Amino acid sequence: METKLQKILIVEDEQSIQKLIEFTLQQANFVTVLANDGEEAIEKVLDEQPDLIILDLMLPKIDGLEVCRMLRKQDIETPIIMLTAKGEEMDKIIGLEMGADDYMTKPFSPREVAARVRAVLRRTGEPKNTKEKKLIAGQLTVYPERMEVYLDNQPLEFTPKEFELLVYFMKNPHRVFTRDQLLQAVWNYDFAGDTRIVDVHVSHLRDKIEENTRKPRYIKTMRGVGYKFGEQN
Ligand code: CA
Repeated sequence: METKLQKILIVEDEQSIQKLIEFTLQQANFVTVLANDGEEAIEKVLDEQPDLIILDLMLPKIDGLEVCRMLRKQDIETPIIMLTAKGEEMDKIIGLEMGADDYMTKPFSPREVAARVRAVLRRTGEPKNTKEKKLIAGQLTVYPERMEVYLDNQPLEFTPKEFELLVYFMKNPHRVFTRDQLLQAVWNYDFAGDTRIVDVHVSHLRDKIEENTRKPRYIKTMRGVGYKFGEQN
């Protein structure tokens, strides 16, 4: 009896890494399909129906997070392992919220690739826990996977960065952050960037979620320090 080989889609624009993963997975008895950018990735998912996707974060045309989000939005549940580079920790968290099943940080060993693929295939082959993750503070409810925010059960519109900032705040309540820390966590700037971008986004968030922006209930200004999220009574 012939067993069907499992097909892995490798989405990576760096040729050397793409080849390394391809070779490793073929050695481990997987069938491989390649894509070089985000657009091609989505085409190949639809055409090739892979059993698992290895998805690099930084890609030409459509980045990995967006690919992930688009697939999940279309109810495509193919397991995804995200590839991130060092220093992309925040994206990694968002990636898992967007519906990725696992992640690997570059550089990784060939042995790790095959092991992770097997582990994710095994795990996702099991019945899913359908309980949806949500974050709640006061009248605010956020569904990270669906990228939806509700205030008093009314849906609110956010830009991706506003959303990331809000999720970051909600995951770290009652913690004081400097503007630089927020810049690094949400914008991935590991140098002293222009922190006004943080203030602008906080101001937009407040316009949307605060009843009285002069006396914010959720995002408090810590004078001379930065910001703190937490439901203030
Ligand atoms: Ca890349």
